[in-house]
Amino acid sequence: MKKINKILISLIFFCLILFVGIYIFIPKNNTNNLMINLIGKTKEDAIDFANKNKLNLEIKEENNAFEINKIFKQSIEVDSKINENDNLIIYVSKGINYEELKVDESGNVPIMMYHGIHNITDNKYTGGNVDKDGYQRTTEAFKKDLEFYYNSGYRMVRLNDYVNGIIDVEAGYSPIIITFDDGLSNNIKVTGLDENGNIIIDPNCAVGVLESFKQKYPDYNVTATFFVNGGLFNQSEYNKKILNWLVDNGYDIGNHSYSHADFTTISKEKSVQEIGSIYNLLDKYIPGKYVNIVALPFGSPYDKSHSNFNSILKGVYNDKEYNTIATLRVGWEAEYSPFNKNFDKTFLKRIRAYDNNGKEFDIEMNFKILESNRYISDGDKNTITIPKDKEDKINNLFNLNVNTY
Ligand SMILES: [Zn+2]
Repeated sequence: MKKINKILISLIFFCLILFVGIYIFIPKNNTNNLMINLIGKTKEDAIDFANKNKLNLEIKEENNAFEINKIFKQSIEVDSKINENDNLIIYVSKGINYEELKVDESGNVPIMMYHGIHNITDNKYTGGNVDKDGYQRTTEAFKKDLEFYYNSGYRMVRLNDYVNGIIDVEAGYSPIIITFDDGLSNNIKVTGLDENGNIIIDPNCAVGVLESFKQKYPDYNVTATFFVNGGLFNQSEYNKKILNWLVDNGYDIGNHSYSHADFTTISKEKSVQEIGSIYNLLDKYIPGKYVNIVALPFGSPYDKSHSNFNSILKGVYNDKEYNTIATLRVGWEAEYSPFNKNFDKTFLKRIRAYDNNGKEFDIEMNFKILESNRYISDGDKNTITIPKDKEDKINNLFNLNVNTY
């Protein structure tokens, strides 16, 4: 009997030590809790949750199309692990005050035209121009341009989305489109391959600068469309890798004709060859991943009634049919909203991105004009919002909801 008691007591004692031991070794500040979904809830719900889990909560109130006083965004993903003292930011919708934001989705959209981006500092022309007419720009000037657009309330959209009536820009902000012609090597300059065989991109070429802005301003939605000739980006050993890297990283590739042809000086047959051969070349490297848009070399023809214009839009080359959905001209001012009656995607105007002391439709002059007629988003890509007195400007080509105020 005594012996059994002794064993029992030892056993109880042993268990006690085991439990105490386990308790001590459990990390105390790890709650093992998971983040919940706060979207659609109120800020009081967020305060409760933050208190319970000892999180540092920051509440931001912003203009948003989401229901007023409800949370529309949270900084920690649902189901991710949270620990004491983690920072949680929630965004509460203030709704949208259309008058205050001057929302106008019938307004104009700048499509910027760039060519080369040169990493030089001894340029002898105005501002960041490299040549007399401002078709080439320095790396430094390109960076300044991108800062200027961002600080002026512009956010990037894909050219292909714009021509399809998709403008996904936060409320109160304006869309801007960036394009490059000629496939110059300084658009995306490859300096070698890393140990995994991925391309290394020169930080001072166009894409290098764009990528740095992607990091700096995640809400800029950095993207651009590159229009190439038969030489693609003139780095033949890397062509396939470059094209695939671009489409995998949110950029687009379009058609600038095989030999940079002037369509007013060649035959119909040659026109088909110039356009069709680029589509076929892109089909080889990035099948189904390029855009059916042509940037017209020299901006030519200047008139859609030219007999070769139709061959730019439609044709059959080497047994392959092509359909071009939009063409881009050269210069000089911003284009219409895709919801404006005057919108014609088959013949779009671009702004030449250059400095000319605020004259002759340079960047400064164009953005001054845009101050009075720019497209300002309602934050909802499925709804066209316009002031009541501009209702007659709208053509609802894409069958979206129309909202006037
Ligand atoms: Zn060109």
